[in-house]
Amino acid sequence: MIVGTPKELFEGENRVAMTPASALELQKLGHSCVIETKAGAAAGFSDKDYKDAGVEVVKTAAALWKAADIVAKVRVPDDGEMKRLSADQTLISFFSPVADEAKMKSAARKGATVVAMEMIPRISRAQKMDALSSMANIAGYRAVIEAGNNFPRFFTGQITAAGKVPPAKVLVVGAGVAGLAAIGTSTSLGAITYAFDVRPEVAEQVESMGAEFVFLDFEEEQADGASSGGYASVSSPEFAAAQLAKFREIAPDMDIVITTALIPNREAPELWTEDMVKSMKPGSVIVDLAAEKGGNCKLTVKDEKIVTDNGVTIIGYTDFPSRMAAQSSTLYATNIRHLMTDLTPEKDGVVNHDMEDDVIRGATVAYGKEVTFPPPPPKVQ
Ligand code: NAD
Repeated sequence: MIVGTPKELFEGENRVAMTPASALELQKLGHSCVIETKAGAAAGFSDKDYKDAGVEVVKTAAALWKAADIVAKVRVPDDGEMKRLSADQTLISFFSPVADEAKMKSAARKGATVVAMEMIPRISRAQKMDALSSMANIAGYRAVIEAGNNFPRFFTGQITAAGKVPPAKVLVVGAGVAGLAAIGTSTSLGAITYAFDVRPEVAEQVESMGAEFVFLDFEEEQADGASSGGYASVSSPEFAAAQLAKFREIAPDMDIVITTALIPNREAPELWTEDMVKSMKPGSVIVDLAAEKGGNCKLTVKDEKIVTDNGVTIIGYTDFPSRMAAQSSTLYATNIRHLMTDLTPEKDGVVNHDMEDDVIRGATVAYGKEVTFPPPPPKVQ
């Protein structure tokens, strides 16, 4: 099969779905690779790098979409790209079957196959293909770096000839993939790090990373339950109130707050209220990783950095992985390469789209002229 990657069209998107290294691996599976000229330029990969890795470089998007049997890309295709998607072609891309329902249906009508990277099930066997986690890991790291870049003091405490410097206090809300990456980065920079999550089972993990888990004065168990696959479910009103009360109590003492709380297929829970922001010290920084889904902080403005009247910086960027495009492209392209390995069991360049396979079935949203979302629950955990 011919695996092709076009240049991303979404404004400001620097990532690319195929790297020279991933192309070499795809060729070992028996596939040929093709890429649109300059598709990797913003991520630091030149046309020559691709040619040296045996990839054919074509001059236009039209030529790329025409040549490829399988199109691997980062962002969900825009309307023009959807028109280029043909019957018998497979698209592998970030693709939200809910937000992009119309595109999913149109692809299915045409007879194209769509594999949505967002839908890779969170089971152990699929970790190597889990692009959401790869990107969240980068976002968690970068959130702390971005916070530091806007924070007017050190992270680590110091005793200098000019005086004693207290360490920064960082609170990470939500200790999933992005949250744990943020905790690891924050503690390694020397900040006193606190973390909160509705899932109590992460407390041990948080503490093993050198951070302190924030427990609530709540009579029942900390959580309202972790639903399947390591995701949270919605909190009860009593629990949510206890959580807000605790945040209100500690807000004035926090220098940096990184919010990552997510409940799948819902708007982000609002956890950091206006009065909490107002109670923070000037120079404090909030990085709201949930900005894309409405934000965990009431005052977050999506894709912007604002400074409040009381001097608190609130960052709502939604493109952290793209800001580290070489790294994120490398990880994303590797996720796709692992998926292609599962799709090419004989390593002979022949794709076997096995709809009995939990991972392939779970991520496939259009197949055989039908919409195949939602998938049945995975058989293997
Ligand atoms: P995840 O599901 O692994 O983690 C989310 C965590 O939030 C879970 O541990 C969950 O238990 C916790 N949570 C849910 N409700 C909570 C609440 N009320 N209080 C505290 N914790 C709560 O998700 P992830 O992959 O780590 O992604 C986190 C967020 O980062 C998502 O919103 C995702 O869209 C976002 N993200 C942003 C960027 C960016 O560039 N801004 C990039 C990648 C991911």
